[in-house]
Amino acid sequence: MNQGLIPTAEAINKLIQELNKLPGIGPKSAQRLAYYLLRAPEEQTNLLAETILSVKQKVTLSCVCFNVTESDPCLICSSDHRDRSKICIVEQPQDILALEHTRIYQGLYHVLHGAISPTEGVGTGDIKINELMSRLQDGLINEVVLATNTNLEGEQTAMYLNKLISPLGIQVTRLARGLPFGTELEYADDVTLTRALEGRQEF
Ligand SMILES: [Zn+2]
Repeated sequence: MNQGLIPTAEAINKLIQELNKLPGIGPKSAQRLAYYLLRAPEEQTNLLAETILSVKQKVTLSCVCFNVTESDPCLICSSDHRDRSKICIVEQPQDILALEHTRIYQGLYHVLHGAISPTEGVGTGDIKINELMSRLQDGLINEVVLATNTNLEGEQTAMYLNKLISPLGIQVTRLARGLPFGTELEYADDVTLTRALEGRQEF
């Protein structure tokens, strides 16, 4: 049992422990949330519990781009209003959310679900690179935008992908300007991301 848990009903302890496993939620916040939920109206807590369950039941990955979706292929892949000559490569589905928010980019996406990291044992076969390469075979893509994070893993992944993709005669660009080293896309603000997209440079 975690240190710092106060002697209280076992069910509350359990809830505190579960909440404490969430990213960004320390023991203090977990306690606050647990006691909040205990006092909250039952309809609110039921709705929260049901919403969590339905996310797990309904949401799958797009068979084309591996974005999260309730319809497969996802709404972006099946849209008539997207520029099908561009694919933007991101590490995580939530990165698409950040980029879509800028409304600058109108192309397609591909989610790698990770980045190459020798130190964490993530190799080229552990992320969706083969799936990306088969999407590039149809000859319809003329630009690949590398929008992996600007940390070590993201840069390594971008370099590796550039080596694979540029021999295919496809223009490879990288989000650059305005994104400081170490930035995770998901946390970048709209203005910075817009500038980075508009100012993307040949890799
Ligand atoms: Zn998709």
